[in-house]
Amino acid sequence: MADAKPMLIGDEWINDSGAVLKSTNPATGATNYEVCAATRAEVNRAVDTARQAASASTWQGMLPHQRARLLSGVAELIEARADEFASLQMRENGKVWRECRAQALSASAIFRYYAAVCETITESLTPSRGNYVSMTVHEPYGVVAAITPWNSPLTMEAQKVAPAIAAGNAVILKPSEITSSPALELGRAALEAGLPPGILNVLPGSGAVAGDALVRHPGVQFVSFTGGTESGRRIAAAAAEKLMPVALELGGKSPHVVFADADIDAAVAAVSDGIFEGSGQSCVAGSRLFVQRSVHDRVLAGIVERAKALRIDLPDAPGAQFGPLASFPHRDRVAAIVDKAKAEGGDVVTGGGRPPFEKLSGGAYYLPTVIAGLANTAGICQQEIFGPVLCVLPFDDEDDLLQQANDSVYGLAAGIWTADYRCAWRVARKLEAGTVWVNTYKQLSISTPFGGFKQSGIGREKGTGGLRLYQQEKSLYFG
Ligand code: NAD
Repeated sequence: MADAKPMLIGDEWINDSGAVLKSTNPATGATNYEVCAATRAEVNRAVDTARQAASASTWQGMLPHQRARLLSGVAELIEARADEFASLQMRENGKVWRECRAQALSASAIFRYYAAVCETITESLTPSRGNYVSMTVHEPYGVVAAITPWNSPLTMEAQKVAPAIAAGNAVILKPSEITSSPALELGRAALEAGLPPGILNVLPGSGAVAGDALVRHPGVQFVSFTGGTESGRRIAAAAAEKLMPVALELGGKSPHVVFADADIDAAVAAVSDGIFEGSGQSCVAGSRLFVQRSVHDRVLAGIVERAKALRIDLPDAPGAQFGPLASFPHRDRVAAIVDKAKAEGGDVVTGGGRPPFEKLSGGAYYLPTVIAGLANTAGICQQEIFGPVLCVLPFDDEDDLLQQANDSVYGLAAGIWTADYRCAWRVARKLEAGTVWVNTYKQLSISTPFGGFKQSGIGREKGTGGLRLYQQEKSLYFG
């Protein structure tokens, strides 16, 4: 325990909870370190600390431009330490260096954005219907729990912590079991930037113990969760008991659509990146490819060629494009799903196993995989895999496409490739998804709202609304 990385409550670093998480490097199988895990006792302590910090007169009286300055300070520190943040993430979830570094810089930019929103967002006077002045103001909930996944921990954490603090709350951040360290370093940066102790607390720990205790704690007034749909359902059920609002960013099975009139080369490149970047471990991965029948074979051949050409390597190897999956159990789960699809008649056009390179044999690698020949109703086309597996399906016309693409419990994102803007408009409006890209894919901006339809989530993060997510409205009447 003495060597385990400590958790952060207030300004104390604590490593005597009696529980630990073991961090494993998925690229090699080597043990990274142990991290002290929160139990119910640390959750109780963190909530008490956060409540005191949130209600302190110094915090409550701090003006928006002053909070903004602190958030800018966090942004500066993340940027200055981008390499350190990136290398922690790379060791824990195995993403390639280029992506880890880009995500560290993106986390810094998110803090900078919410600093700007914090000091520029305005309140509104509402139309008076009598001899009074009425206005609506926004107030923080108090203590917010932020619960995050392992695939893009830095950006997801920045996306919750920055707006929640900008909104005037204290935050308890519970990172994924797999990626504790970037969150702990974020806590360190927040303290160093001058945020009052207790405004950001970081509790590594399991979802079943620490996560569940946080969600159920009466002192937590809002939960912002990103993760799988099943976990989201459990959190929503626990929140219903307390009548507590939640924001849920959940799973996806996003359709990526190529019409016959599209710029096929550009579409093929985007479809390939859209599924294989991050080894497919992206909530918006375009994992179902719908291709208009007349160009089906050409598009499929192009994607297979790109999949085979990807540079699969250790995450820190120069030029590496494709790393391991984030854990060995996750790799085995992906392999089992592909094996089942094969048994059900799926045609594995490329991939479907581990890379044949000796130097990668100790890691949780799985080849970029393309499967054809199954209907959209097949299990593999309906289930979120969260790995580098693309299902390719033909369609005949817009009606056929919409019927198939919308036949999913998920509704996170979608992409359309066509030269016909009328078709793009019609299809974009009819696809059941929180984000639709036209002739581009996976463009994401902190200033544009993000979230899911159907079982992909509740609520929207990002944008100015991403700050309002962490506030409640109060209406005032002055006679
Ligand atoms: P997960 O649901 O297993 O875990 C996510 C987080 O929730 C972890 O911190 C975990 O400890 C915690 N948790 C699990 N059960 C809990 C419970 N009952 N109470 C409280 N906390 C609990 O997800 P994961 O495997 O870490 O991440 C992959 C999933 O995340 C995928 O489904 C992916 O689509 C989704 N995701 C969604 C988005 C989005 O923005 N919509 C972004 C990234 C990832």
